[in-house]
Amino acid sequence: EWVPFARLLQEIVAVLELEAEGKGTKIELVASAEQEVYCDRARIKQVLINLIGNAIRYAESGGRVEVTARFAAGEMRLTVRDDGPGIPPESLPYLFDRFYRVEGSRSRQSGGMGLGLAIAKEFVEAHGGKLRVKSELGEGTTFALNLPIFPIS
Ligand code: ATP
Ligand code: MG
Repeated sequence: EWVPFARLLQEIVAVLELEAEGKGTKIELVASAEQEVYCDRARIKQVLINLIGNAIRYAESGGRVEVTARFAAGEMRLTVRDDGPGIPPESLPYLFDRFYRVEGSRSRQSGGMGLGLAIAKEFVEAHGGKLRVKSELGEGTTFALNLPIFPIS
């Protein structure tokens, strides 16, 4: 279906902000425009909740999460960036595997099944999109999600 993407992001951020406020984390949302994207709303919503939820969950208390959406060249390009602890380079190849969680007290203690990113990548690729991660220890993590705006044939 055609989904007004900026509005969907606003709805999700409004809900996750409550969780973030409890940690003193600020979420900043920037959407360059409103644009409808042809996708499965429920599934994309699940992907976005996982990406933004992870950024809140694994970032430091008092941190910042930046969500940016741009629409260009037939694509929706979203980044979710946090200033959390980052992901060790040796973990990055497994990050999208089912049940994979990075070792370490922080992520172990804070629940989660380790399924969110595996499911997210499957959905996104089924939609003809891409999901990638960049992370540096001590600097933070950025997930980049690209989705085609128009139906794929
Ligand atoms: P679930 O999403 O199933 O509730 P989860 O959040 O542990 O559980 P994923 O979303 O698949 O699972 O993430 C896998 C692992 O990647 C996490 O356990 C965490 O160790 C690491 N991770 C994900 N996002 C971040 C992030 N923004 N910063 C640091 N580590 C992250
Ligand atoms: Mg998760």
